[in-house]
Amino acid sequence: MKFNPANNIQDLQYFGEFGGVNPSISDSSTYTFLSAKTMFDTFEGNADGCYLYSRHSSPSNLYLGEALAAMEGTETANVAASGMGAIAPVLLQLCQSGNHIVSSRTIYGGTYAFLKNFTPRFGIETSFVDITKLETVAAAITPKTKVLYCEAVSNPLLEVADIPALAELAKKHNLQLVVDNTFSPLSIAPAKLGADIVIHSLTKFINGASDTVGGVVCGTQALIDQLRNVNDGASMLLGATMDSLRAASVLKNLRTLHIRMKQHSCNAMYLAKMFEADGLKTVYPGLPSHPSHEIFKRMMNSDYGFGGMLTIDVGSIEKANELMELMQEKNLGYLAVSLGFYKTLFSAPGTSTSSEIPPAEQVEMGLTDGLIRFSVGLDQDIQRTYQLMRECMEHLNILEPAMA
Ligand SMILES: *Cc1c(COP(=O)(O)O)cnc(C)c1O
Repeated sequence: MKFNPANNIQDLQYFGEFGGVNPSISDSSTYTFLSAKTMFDTFEGNADGCYLYSRHSSPSNLYLGEALAAMEGTETANVAASGMGAIAPVLLQLCQSGNHIVSSRTIYGGTYAFLKNFTPRFGIETSFVDITKLETVAAAITPKTKVLYCEAVSNPLLEVADIPALAELAKKHNLQLVVDNTFSPLSIAPAKLGADIVIHSLTKFINGASDTVGGVVCGTQALIDQLRNVNDGASMLLGATMDSLRAASVLKNLRTLHIRMKQHSCNAMYLAKMFEADGLKTVYPGLPSHPSHEIFKRMMNSDYGFGGMLTIDVGSIEKANELMELMQEKNLGYLAVSLGFYKTLFSAPGTSTSSEIPPAEQVEMGLTDGLIRFSVGLDQDIQRTYQLMRECMEHLNILEPAMA
């Protein structure tokens, strides 16, 4: 049967301690053992089903982790306190001093800063490449390379990684292909396309309520065991553990992700088509004009569409700021970073989420001044939203008034 991430989430069945339809929340940092021997075995990592200490694992975190592993089709998963709390330990677990990473150059600003400024302290160097050019990616691989890193749909430029082709390259050179799938949950299932490890910031679409930060690493049991190892596991030792109460709350939001993603995608497709028809420079993977439209189509689970993210370019940062302020004043969305909220969120990546990237590099990668990134909301009446956005653009002379 066809892989269906939403079915896989829904098919999991866990009941609460008293027959609750939601699993019970384990509100404990530590756990008792009936025998000292079992405690020892658990420390050594050999006592299945036993809990030791909640930085290591907790029932609530395991429930959420298993649901996310089912969504991505991996053996298991480990949840973390934030997306960066998932990304940093994975990279530090896979690499040691003297190793090398080949990364897409259009990635989340925090990940970019981590690889550019932080991991060199540990002797881990990164080459940043245009991930859409396979020859460039291949040419950057050296005998020291351990990891090939990218985002399925990149932040903020919405470049699409050809995951099957990158997986083939990774296999050939014995690298781990790590894919951040934060922008395209359900739509793209990187592990099914050959990625070794899939990461999410749960903060965004997956939780979808802008009320918490969270992250997850989905991969093999062996990898997750390594990350959690009490002696040398980066997740265990760096300590970015999610709290049980939060894990329970994210799990409940995950249950409606498929409905939300359909609406985000449908609304984003509508706005992208209208903006493009208006003559605005619009980037959306669902538009045939997108350079990787065909690649996305080949990879996607079509039920969930092309995602909720789009960008337009209004020419200058001044215009971008004026437009965002006006749209916020008209209550069409909020001038805020982050994504995946019920309300549309917009920001100018060059001055916000990608400000870690030096200006010269921003220009080189096509991150222009007038770029506005939209996380399109769950608006019931997107035609009305579009009309009101259009009025804002006309008011600011970004668009000519439409002929009646
Ligand atoms: C937000 C984000 C992250 C970081 O996640 P946090 O939860 O903020 O730590 C990583 N990757 C992408 C693509 C993101 O959008």
